[in-house]
Amino acid sequence: MYNPSAAGVTVNTESGNRFFVYEVVGLRQTDESDATTNQIRRSGSTFITVPYNRMNQEMRRITRMGGQIVSIRPLGEEGTSNGRHTPTVSQEQTQKEAQPSKPMTQTKAKKATTEDIPVNIYKPKNPYTGKCLSNEPLVREGGSGIVQHLTFDLSAGDLRYLEGQSIGIIPPGKDQKGKPHKLRLYSIASTRHGDHEDDKTVSLCVRELVYQHPETNETVKGVCSSFLCHLKPGDDLAITGPVGKEMLLPDDEESTVIMMATGTGIAPFRAFLWRMFKEQHEDYKFKGLAWLFFGIPYSANILYKEELEQLQAEFPDNFRLTYAISREEQNAQGGKMYIQDRIAENAGEIWNLLQQPNAHSYICGLKGMEGGIDEGMSAVTSTQGVDWLDYQKQLKKEHRWHVETY
Ligand code: FAD
Repeated sequence: MYNPSAAGVTVNTESGNRFFVYEVVGLRQTDESDATTNQIRRSGSTFITVPYNRMNQEMRRITRMGGQIVSIRPLGEEGTSNGRHTPTVSQEQTQKEAQPSKPMTQTKAKKATTEDIPVNIYKPKNPYTGKCLSNEPLVREGGSGIVQHLTFDLSAGDLRYLEGQSIGIIPPGKDQKGKPHKLRLYSIASTRHGDHEDDKTVSLCVRELVYQHPETNETVKGVCSSFLCHLKPGDDLAITGPVGKEMLLPDDEESTVIMMATGTGIAPFRAFLWRMFKEQHEDYKFKGLAWLFFGIPYSANILYKEELEQLQAEFPDNFRLTYAISREEQNAQGGKMYIQDRIAENAGEIWNLLQQPNAHSYICGLKGMEGGIDEGMSAVTSTQGVDWLDYQKQLKKEHRWHVETY
């Protein structure tokens, strides 16, 4: 482990060569912890000095050793001096200070220059005519509903996009008023390079909307989702966009990315994970932590199951995968296991991760899923004197809390 004071390094808090002090409790004494030279033990807490570019790694090491980080502060701030920390503040104060202050914010999900983010290259009045290349089922036998993975050819136009953006689809035909149908938005499920990695395709993950009409009890199918789910290879379709700046991936290769998806909310996260792990890039090599929470009704509804589990097996140190299978698993109270129950189970660790200045959280899928997630997080932060909703506001301000629900 790198020890700046032992190495005689001048700590420069203005530049990227910054160091932070983790206050850790509950650390098990192991060969690994004993081997760490940059730690000081005082009254139940251990203070570990960490260079900025190793924050994620160190966080994972501490978790492995059973430790819990109770505060993070830049080295050299009040109470610290060259890594020698004097614990004079209360835990409540410490937690408040641990909230990332402005200078600690290193990572903005929004790209530095907004001109780099493609938006509305094709507008509804002049959409791009794409072609369906493939349309594959994602729900296996025993699952509920129809969800399809669709790939469209973009080679005849200028449509480009980034991971986390959406495109619009204008279904053919007219609505009940005799007007052309309005566009529907769909999160892009492929990376900017497309599933064929040739920059010429875009993919979607679409659930066919089917419901019983509340008055007539007739089965009604959604106009656009039904059109898409039954498209055949070779069929044309009208595409607009791309749109969206809310769900972009941070540029920082060391960042922590916590993803919470229900159903087709997996779409942008598939794009993230492909970019992080599956594709190899000269200018982006992900070395941080990605943690996906995925809520579905049945195991047969785990969309992209094989691909996700293969990535998890290949990158166990950098990718964690946690399912919540509501109709097959039970929560601690014996009820159905929803995504918020998994968040509640892991809220302590998520809270630790979110206190890192380069951690981002993303929610995508069913409207209303945020409420349960907030409850789980509140339960943990309140034990440390932190109001979760206030903290979340700060995360939003720093573009580190991203939500797209529909
Ligand atoms: P429509 O024909 O437009 O019917 C929808 C309408 O049916 C509703 O407005 C409501 O009036 C009615 N309705 C629906 N359910 C019921 C019910 N139970 N009881 C009574 N009435 C009901 N969808 C995906 O599948 N995958 C995605 O990746 C995706 N990404 C999205 C990203 C964004 C940013 C947004 C805003 C939406 C996204 N959607 C996604 C949803 C998508 O845009 C459409 O809303 C969805 O496919 C339904 O459109 P439709 O044309 O099939 O339904």
